[in-house]
Amino acid sequence: MKRIGVLTSGGDAPGMNAAVRAVVRKAIYHGVEVYGVYQGYQGLINGNIHQLEAGSVGDIIHRGGTILRSARCPEFKTQEGQQQALKQLDKHNIDGLVVIGGDGSYRGAKALTERGYPCVGVPGTIDNDIPGTEFTIGFDTALNTVIDAIDKIRDTASSHERTFIIEVMGRDAGDIALWAGLSGGAETIVIPEDPIDMESMKERLMKGLKRGKRHSIIIVAEGVMSGNELADKVKEMTGIETRVSVLGHMQRGGSPTARDRVLASRLGAKAVELLLANKGGRAVGIERNELVDYDIIEALSLPHKLDLDIYQLSKELSI
Ligand code: ADP
Repeated sequence: MKRIGVLTSGGDAPGMNAAVRAVVRKAIYHGVEVYGVYQGYQGLINGNIHQLEAGSVGDIIHRGGTILRSARCPEFKTQEGQQQALKQLDKHNIDGLVVIGGDGSYRGAKALTERGYPCVGVPGTIDNDIPGTEFTIGFDTALNTVIDAIDKIRDTASSHERTFIIEVMGRDAGDIALWAGLSGGAETIVIPEDPIDMESMKERLMKGLKRGKRHSIIIVAEGVMSGNELADKVKEMTGIETRVSVLGHMQRGGSPTARDRVLASRLGAKAVELLLANKGGRAVGIERNELVDYDIIEALSLPHKLDLDIYQLSKELSI
C-alpha cells in the first residue's frame, strides 16, 4: 500500500475528525500517502478527492462534525455507482480505503470489498448500533449531551414537581436512552428492544408519587414513539400532565469527549495497520477495552446486542 483514502459517510458523529486525524497521521508515520474523499460515497463517485498532509488534520481533534463532510448517496447502492467509484480510486492510485460511518456506510464498504477492493470500516455513529464493537465513536459524547440536558430538566422538574418526558435519538437501538437513563437517574426508560408496557409504567409513576417523589423523568427513544405521543398516553392512563423535551440534532454535535477522542484515535490507527498488512474487508471495534477486527461481511450479519445487565440495573435503581 503506497496510498490510502479515507471518507466519512452517513450521519455525522463527534469524534469523526479525531478518527480522520488518526488515519492520516498513522499512515504518514508509516510513509504512506493519504487522500481525503469529501462528501462520502458521493465524493467518491464524483472524484472529490484531495491529498491530506499531516498539517491538514491539525486543530481538528476537538471539533465535532467532520471536515471531510458527509452525504447520503443512493447512487452508490447501484452497480454503476460502485463501478464509477472504483474507477476514481484507480485513477487516483488509491490502494485501500478507510470508511468511517454507520451501518449503511459499512454496507457500502462491504459492496467494494465484494468487488475485490480493500476497505476497512471504522464505527462512527452516536447510536452505538454497529455490531462487532461494544462502543462506537460519538456515542459517549452524545450521551454526555443528553445527561447534561437531563440534569438541567431535573432542576426545573423538581422545583415544579413535574413529570418530564425526554425524547432522545435511536430509531432501532435504545443505547442512548438506556445509558443516559441510567446515568441521569431516569425513573422509566422506553427503548425499541423491549415492548412498552403502559401498565407497569403507570404503576411506577403512581408508586413514586405515593412515596413522595417530587418529580419523575421518562426517557423515550424516538424509534418507539414521539415524546408527545407518549405524553398523551400517560395523560390518558394516569391523568398526569407531563412536559415534553425533544433533544433532536443537538445530540449529534459538540466537542468529542476524551473517551471518544481516544477511541477514534485507536480505531483510526488500527484501520491503517490492517490496510498496511494487506488485510482489507475488515471492520474494527473495541471489546473489553481491546481492539478487535472482524470480517466486514460477517460483522454486518451479527445482531446488535443491547446491554441487558445495564437495562436490568436501570430498573432496579429507579424504584
Ligand atoms: P449510516 O452510515 O450513518 O448508517 P446511511 O444508512 O445513510 O448512514 O448510509 C450512508 C451511505 O452508505 C448511503 O447514503 C449509501 O451511499 C451507502 N450505503 C448504504 N447502504 C448501502 C448498500 N446496501 N450498498 C451500498 N452502499 C450503501
